[in-house]
This record gives sequence, C-alpha cells and structure tokens, in this order.
Amino acid sequence: MMLVVASRNENKLREIQKLAPDGFNLVSLRKLSITVKAPEEGDSFIQNAISKAIFYGNLLMKPVVADDSGLVIDALGGFPGVLSARFMKNHPYIEKMKTIIKMLKNKEKTARFVCTAAFWNPESKVLLCCEGSVEGIISEDIRGNSGFGYDPFFIPEGFDKTFGELGEEKHKISHRSRAFKQLFENLSKMV
Ligand code: IMP
Repeated sequence: MMLVVASRNENKLREIQKLAPDGFNLVSLRKLSITVKAPEEGDSFIQNAISKAIFYGNLLMKPVVADDSGLVIDALGGFPGVLSARFMKNHPYIEKMKTIIKMLKNKEKTARFVCTAAFWNPESKVLLCCEGSVEGIISEDIRGNSGFGYDPFFIPEGFDKTFGELGEEKHKISHRSRAFKQLFENLSKMV
C-alpha cells in the first residue's frame, strides 16, 4: 500500500519509515515535490494530526499518514504541548531547552512526549487515529547528540540517559513508535 507521509521533518520521516511493516511503501511530501503547507492551528495533537492528514489526502487524492507530537510538561500546565515546534521559533533547540530548564527551577520535572498518528484515505473516507506517549523527566543538563528537538533533555522512565543519548533505543519506546505501531497494526488488518 502506498502511503504519503505528511511531514517535512526528516527526523520524523526516518523514525516513521523504520516502523512501517513490509507491504507499506512510504513516500514523502518532498519526493512528491509538494511545497504547500497544511494549516496547523488546532489546540490538540489529535486536531492537528487529523487536519494535516485530511489536507494532504484531499490535495493528492492518496492515502496519507500524518503525525502531530510534542512535549507536555506537568509543572508548566502542559506547555509547550502543541506549541513545541513554535515555542521560541527561529531559536536553536539548545536555547529553547535552557529556557525551559530555567522555567522549571524548583518545580516538578515530570513530563511526557505525546504523538498522535492519523491516517486518511480520501477514496474510502476511512479515518484512523492512534496515540502514543512516553513518560519521563526533564533533565537539568542537556546531553547527547542523537535524535532531534527536545531529545537531549528528556529522560524516559526506567532509564538514566536522555533520548539524545539513547540513539536507536529511543525507537523501541518512543511516543512516535507507540502511536505508529498501533496505526500500522490497524492498517494491516484493513488491507
Ligand atoms: P509537529 O511537527 O508540529 O508535530 O512538531 C512537533 C515538535 O515537537 C517537534 O518539532 C519538536 O519540537 C517536538 N518533538 C516531537 N517529537 C519529538 C521527539 O521525538 N524528540 C524531540 N522533540 C520532539
């Protein structure tokens, strides 16, 4: 089954590609030379994932998978959440993380990464959504070069390394792998 992955984030693409079982042929927006951007104005991961999948699915008239994800920090009332990419836009992630570490001084450090994966087939009108999350804490120091975004200061539960230090191990437990494993399992039953 051919599936368009509605993301321009190369790191996300790589992660999703690794999770796709045999029989799924994933194609990126870049490969299809699609430059138009889907609106991303929802106030929940599920709203944004669905609107991206429907936007590109209807544009291309092909089945699409999309995801919306982010970091949810308890002591900051869920911030940055859906604003994870937009928070301090145009600043490097090292600066965003240093700012968050300051905001969390003397506060609880519990947090989770959340990912909603959505599938939309414009012909059959099938819409499917699955959510995955991984609990952890925000580290007071920034460690590791693998991964992307906020990986270097997120320590998943049961580990003493950050996602940035875990390398490939991240993919076994990440919010994205949990969401997409469920999504692909459901899609495999349908094809
Ligand atoms: P989206 O493209 O709107 O889903 O943006 C998600 C944003 O959340 C990313 O740009 C990162 O800032 C953050 N994020 C989501 N997943 C991860 C992850 O696995 N590692 C690090 N940061 C992530």
